[in-house]
Amino acid sequence: MKVLFLDQSGQLGGAELSLTDVAKHFRDQGLVYLFEDGPFAAKLTAERVPCKVLQRPRLSISKDSGLLQGLLSIRQLLPLVGEVVKTAQTYDVIYANTQKALVVGAIASILARKPLVYHLRDILSAEHFSQMNRRVAITLANMCATLVIANSQATRQAFMDAGGSPQRIKVVYNGFEPDQYQGQPPLRTVLQQQHAIQEGFWIGHFSRFSPWKGQHVLVDALQYLGEEAQVLLVGKALFGEDDYVQFLQAKMQDYGLQDRVHFLGFRSDIPALMASCDLVAHTSTSPEPFGRVIIEAMLAGCPVVAAKAGGVTELIEHGKTGWLCPPNNPQKLAQMIGECQRQPQLRQQIADQARVQASQTFSLEHTNQTISGLLQQHVRRSTSS
Ligand code: UDP
Repeated sequence: MKVLFLDQSGQLGGAELSLTDVAKHFRDQGLVYLFEDGPFAAKLTAERVPCKVLQRPRLSISKDSGLLQGLLSIRQLLPLVGEVVKTAQTYDVIYANTQKALVVGAIASILARKPLVYHLRDILSAEHFSQMNRRVAITLANMCATLVIANSQATRQAFMDAGGSPQRIKVVYNGFEPDQYQGQPPLRTVLQQQHAIQEGFWIGHFSRFSPWKGQHVLVDALQYLGEEAQVLLVGKALFGEDDYVQFLQAKMQDYGLQDRVHFLGFRSDIPALMASCDLVAHTSTSPEPFGRVIIEAMLAGCPVVAAKAGGVTELIEHGKTGWLCPPNNPQKLAQMIGECQRQPQLRQQIADQARVQASQTFSLEHTNQTISGLLQQHVRRSTSS
């Protein structure tokens, strides 16, 4: 089966890393069309996944920018539609991975008479999107997509709450290759030298910088923790939120925490970094659709404390495979981190249980087989109708 994937971003966010894993499975028969050049195209090429950056006038696309903005720039999107329609003639299905890809994919699917699949990786709630954005996404999905793949039950529920059709949505969790996360040599000595991190209790935070990802909640929590607690912030502002990085740096200065908060930038050695931490903290202040970093930490053998909202509650069983903390509550977070710090045996036990659970439940092989089966079913259905 030939799949034409569409994604609006040139950056490596979770949606793009997950799509890479799906597209690898279809690398002999698939093509990824991107609306922007950048590290994502480089990663696909390195993974031998055919990809092409669509030629178009410069569009200021950011991950969280409005769909309305996307629609208003319809004149810029139209050339993309034309090219997608032309290419789609030799493909069985169009697979939209982001919201602007849905806009282009929906129009192209009608013109090319090809089925459209929408991989929904966002919680379509008022906390994340304007009413107009939600309405456009739901209308296009209901009208044009034969299948919507949600990355969690929380994502599926929000889709239906916003008016999405329950008949066409299926939940498929992100998949991972456990081998890639296990047996990683810890980088503690190297990190101590390169980033002047003191020995102690290392709390890793792995995420793009964005206010709702809540790096500030962890910095606030650090005030309540002893000197040995060190925070490693891994990631960068992928979608233009540089003001937030400045805000964090000012906060660190105000609290006098410059020596205990370390910015490591965007990294591609996530498993080894996670294996070097004593704890991974996930601190999103709005419901997380899935939370790849949580499963990655589990597979790397690092215990996780995560914000109790959205898809996260489907990934962690509190007190058994990690800890769930009320979102946006630095005091409570500090208290949970402190308890975790004082109990190394419990930490190890939780990490061991989480590793087994994550390896069994979130295998990439299973995810790709499920997606492949769903695509075949929907393509068959659309050719026979
Ligand atoms: N990530 C990375 N390098 C970094 C920071 C994050 O490769 O420096 C990866 C991380 O390992 C995870 C993804 O980015 O696979 C983030 O996915 P998640 O679902 O946690 O959040 P999203 O970006 O989709 O909101």
